Amino acid sequence: MADFAGVDFLRLDELLSDEERLARDTVRDFVSKEFLPLVQEHVRRDGSFPMELVPKLAELGLFGANLHGYGCAGMNNVAYGLVMQELERGDSGLRSFASVQGSLVMYPIRSYGSDEQKERWLPELASGRAVGCFGLTEPDFGSFASGMITKAVRHGDGWVLNGTKRWITNGTVSDVAVVWARTEDGIRGFLVETDRPGFEARDMKGKFSLRTSITSELFLQDVEIPDANRLPGAEGMKGPLSCLTQARYGIAWGAIGAAMACYEEALRYAKDRVVQGGALAGKQLTQEKLVFMLTEITKAQLLALRVAQIKDQGGLHHAMVSLAKRNNVDVALQIARLARDLLGANGIVDDYQAMRHMVNLETVRTYEGTHDVHMLILAKEITGLAAI
Ligand SMILES: Cc1cc2nc3c(=O)[nH]c(=O)nc-3n(C[C@H](O)[C@H](O)[C@H](O)COP(=O)(O)OP(=O)(O)OC[C@H]3O[C@@H](n4cnc5c(N)ncnc54)[C@H](O)[C@@H]3O)c2cc1C
Repeated sequence: MADFAGVDFLRLDELLSDEERLARDTVRDFVSKEFLPLVQEHVRRDGSFPMELVPKLAELGLFGANLHGYGCAGMNNVAYGLVMQELERGDSGLRSFASVQGSLVMYPIRSYGSDEQKERWLPELASGRAVGCFGLTEPDFGSFASGMITKAVRHGDGWVLNGTKRWITNGTVSDVAVVWARTEDGIRGFLVETDRPGFEARDMKGKFSLRTSITSELFLQDVEIPDANRLPGAEGMKGPLSCLTQARYGIAWGAIGAAMACYEEALRYAKDRVVQGGALAGKQLTQEKLVFMLTEITKAQLLALRVAQIKDQGGLHHAMVSLAKRNNVDVALQIARLARDLLGANGIVDDYQAMRHMVNLETVRTYEGTHDVHMLILAKEITGLAAI
């Protein structure tokens, strides 16, 4: 695994700076040497993440990597995207850990937090000494979270929170939860320390997908917090949606990593596997599948790179991210399914990666805006007519 070469049919490497290549190669090496040897064990244990890697991920600057100041690496968005690609080449659960910590916890604190909140949490989160989670989804409100029931009511100088959040990545290992709640002035974000009385997180078990990631339910019962814990700059759904745009951007790149892992595995397998006296890779039906994979990976790379350039220039529109997330996850899932198929019976065991990526990508297709929801966002953009 340590010699994973990536896929670069159109010589996109030539468009990258030395720093961008270095960031990618460093994470590629880390994933090969330190993450992949552990992945099988964590997949077999439903809902567990190799927490011992958290300090190393932090040391590599991978938490809030495209944020500036407060101990963050300050990478540009190309380098950041390549980092997400490499993490997800390992597993979607690994990329999810970094996405949640960076885009869904550190980003809202950096963008909407007070100076005290930034100083209190950002260095801790960047260094991995603290872990955070993002509580938006509820049992009855996923795609349209603006219907949320969780409430924050003013109480003296502070707030009292009540509600349930479900499908929350890293809930049970978090020190702080970014909780989105309804107030009399609309949706607001709150930083809730997870040791506050009335706060409880429980692991969700039985997942077929994203088994290397911790998924939790959060219960808030009369949780009291001071007003200093409210994110002062976040007003309405714009707050959580802007965080989701950041995370979705990382997913558009991450999906390429999962697709590359599947393609590389399928190509290697098909060259070695002999059927009817010849290499599987020499059969026309196989070749059509491999060429489809290569073509879609290359198109996804071009899409992600262009979105990164626009993001670095400050011109990013959330619908561009919708297009990239929707397309790249969709083709990655198709590629993972084809790779699984090419591996035959071997494709269903966890000595090989394709099926793990395939079932992971089913989650990635659903979270951070489902495939259909991104279609509706794009449709609204081009027609001017909102179907949602
Ligand atoms: C492993 C995992 C980790 C997660 N981590 C987090 C996290 O850390 N924090 C967090 O807040 N959330 C998290 N989520 C939740 C995730 O974001 C939601 O599952 C997602 O938003 C979809 O919501 P839902 O599951 O309620 O599906 P629903 O919204 O009920 O959608 C069900 C189906 O209906 C379709 N649909 C919905 N509305 C329409 C419409 N108007 N027209 C046509 N079709 C429609 C959808 O596309 C989908 O196919 C996670 C989920 C998973 C599985």
